Amino acid sequence: MRTKPLPKSAKTPTRVGSQALLEKFGLGSPAALALHLPMRYEDETQLWTIEDALMKSASGAVQTQGTVIRSQVVYRPRRQLLVTITDDHSELNLRWLNFYPSQQKQMAIGAHLRVRGEIRDGYLGPEMVHPTVRAISPDAPLPKSLTPVYSVAAGISQTMIRKAVMGALSDPSMHTVLAEILPKTLLGKAAEGVMQFTLRDAVMYLHQPPADADTDALIERTHPAWRRVQLEELLAQQISLKQAHAVRKGRSSPPQILANKQTGSLTQQLLSALPFQLTAAQKGVWAQISDDLRASFPMNRLLQGDVGSGKTIVAALASAQMVERSYQVAIMAPTEILAEQHYLKFKEWFEPLGISVLWLSGSMKSKDKKQAQESIESGQAHIVVGTHALIQEAVHFAALGLAVIDEQHRFGVRQRLEISQRIGSETYYCHQLMMSATPIPRTLAMTYYADLDVSVIDELPPGRKPIATKLVKDGRRQEVIAGLEQWLQKGLQAYWVCPLIEESEALQLQTAVDSHAELAAVLSQYRVALIHGRLKAEEKASIMANFKAGKIDVLVSTTVIEVGVDVPNAALMVIEHAERFGYAQIHQLRGRVGRGSADSVCILMYSEPLSLAAKERLQTLREVSDGFVIAERDLALRGPGELLGAKQSGEAMLRFVDLQRDAWLIQIAHELAERLLAEHPDLVKAHLGRWVGSRTEFLKA
Ligand code: ADP
Ligand code: MG
Repeated sequence: MRTKPLPKSAKTPTRVGSQALLEKFGLGSPAALALHLPMRYEDETQLWTIEDALMKSASGAVQTQGTVIRSQVVYRPRRQLLVTITDDHSELNLRWLNFYPSQQKQMAIGAHLRVRGEIRDGYLGPEMVHPTVRAISPDAPLPKSLTPVYSVAAGISQTMIRKAVMGALSDPSMHTVLAEILPKTLLGKAAEGVMQFTLRDAVMYLHQPPADADTDALIERTHPAWRRVQLEELLAQQISLKQAHAVRKGRSSPPQILANKQTGSLTQQLLSALPFQLTAAQKGVWAQISDDLRASFPMNRLLQGDVGSGKTIVAALASAQMVERSYQVAIMAPTEILAEQHYLKFKEWFEPLGISVLWLSGSMKSKDKKQAQESIESGQAHIVVGTHALIQEAVHFAALGLAVIDEQHRFGVRQRLEISQRIGSETYYCHQLMMSATPIPRTLAMTYYADLDVSVIDELPPGRKPIATKLVKDGRRQEVIAGLEQWLQKGLQAYWVCPLIEESEALQLQTAVDSHAELAAVLSQYRVALIHGRLKAEEKASIMANFKAGKIDVLVSTTVIEVGVDVPNAALMVIEHAERFGYAQIHQLRGRVGRGSADSVCILMYSEPLSLAAKERLQTLREVSDGFVIAERDLALRGPGELLGAKQSGEAMLRFVDLQRDAWLIQIAHELAERLLAEHPDLVKAHLGRWVGSRTEFLKA
């Protein structure tokens, strides 16, 4: 197939076209362009001979040049362009898998090319795949500064954005745009070392670093010029958080109305009906939450606790405290399965106390949904449990007092915004309790989320047996199945979790179907069931209910059981292709076992060859059971953004700060924010305007 050349207008946008494009991505003004700092740099100030470039190949991208001696399009295994250059001493192969006819022409035999890229071992020896190429004369001068590389959106080329940024930097408005806002006296000692640059100098430096700049520090973003920018940005974020907190404190929480019931009686009744005592950690967080619920301003609290630490009962106690004051409570979970589990638990706890618990989910029949909505609207329903349909559908609470959001990081920012918009009424704002089994270090939590208090349950209920985690090669599958059978003979139940296949949901389902068939055949005297995400909500619910009731022995599943499932008699879990799962996923999955009195085992089956990262991950999981330790490892590996789900609230404001790398700056920014607000309230707006602009929306999530 021939690649059609792009129409001319798309390739070289007109001035108007490029301006419109830049505007579309918020880069329309010189100010926005000036603060659109490079994502990374390319060092084009150095040139190597091909021989030296080949020697340096392990150390990342290199720049070299030579004359084209071969240039051909080959079709095996697929259409590609192969070019060889030489500098009369050595040769280097270049390869393109996508290319335009114009590129092919540019790389005709005899052309002189300056190329930059990483050299890797290819099929025909060392090669550069998709290098950056310039056709130039051999003695063309090298640039004097590092070349900035900007993040761009579709349709904007590096050339286009570099030009736009350079244009902006020479714009006369720069003097005001980048003027110092923060008074020198304020910065003082706290920020020494961070303030070697004025903002304007820092920005100029970062866009056009001199050739002798400390390249590593620039790339790692630890250079003083970066520090200056990072401090400014963090300061803006800290100010925003403080303002958000002030706004929350200025709001009214649900006022203290007492029902006929005696104060505290419902929580007391609930506590005394429990078959267990709260752990000290549960008591501690419950005391904090109970105080919050009595405060004059709405609670916004994150309850963290490892899988199985018992967060649900704390949420139930909070619900009881609001219900006894005649308010309604909404409990939301990200999946129907998890929501259903909560529904069953809450019903078990509350219905004996005369409190009605209602189910509402998106998949309900419209007649049932309507009925549910009516009883919410009339105030008949005290506690409503469901998915985020609870806020999406036309649901009007008579008197919502508390919203509980489980596994809140799995809700998107948009959904969380929706929730917070729905919890305010004319007279008061609801209390919000979020729960998460993904422990994040406290300092991170404080900067990550907009104005949020954090409670931690750092203790598991007593009597939990540690879960023995074993690593088994998948070649020993039959042994694993034989072991499983012995397990079942003891009357215990088991989970069999099928691999995550990111590329294809259909493929993922297929492996689960296959494993189910295999297990059902081998373990024919046992009841083996299959559960997966494509089933209808009622089907899933009935399978889970049967598993819980002991009517199913082995539950083969895709990752739908990831969170919240609670079946104490299930003490064995087998995870196929465990090497494909992340830390948190396996940790959460295996938290499903070890909930009863039997010794529990989690078998991680893996197939070789294992990558180094996968090997380390599996070994860590075998040795470590503490969710906080695992979360730290995960954090180090993936960075906070991913750990918490894509760009969330507080972090969405931070473009140049990495909360992990720059943690020490947070404290400085925190103190500066307090002083700026107290001593220079007049400057706050200008500073926020520069750094936050329209991104404050995220603070409300
Ligand atoms: P998670 O924090 O993962 O949501 P759950 O709330 O589902 O954990 O609790 C896990 C299990 O532990 C449930 O069966 C729950 O009833 C039980 N549980 C909670 N608190 C205690 C406790 N203090 N003592 C004994 N069992 C408890
Ligand atoms: Mg839970």
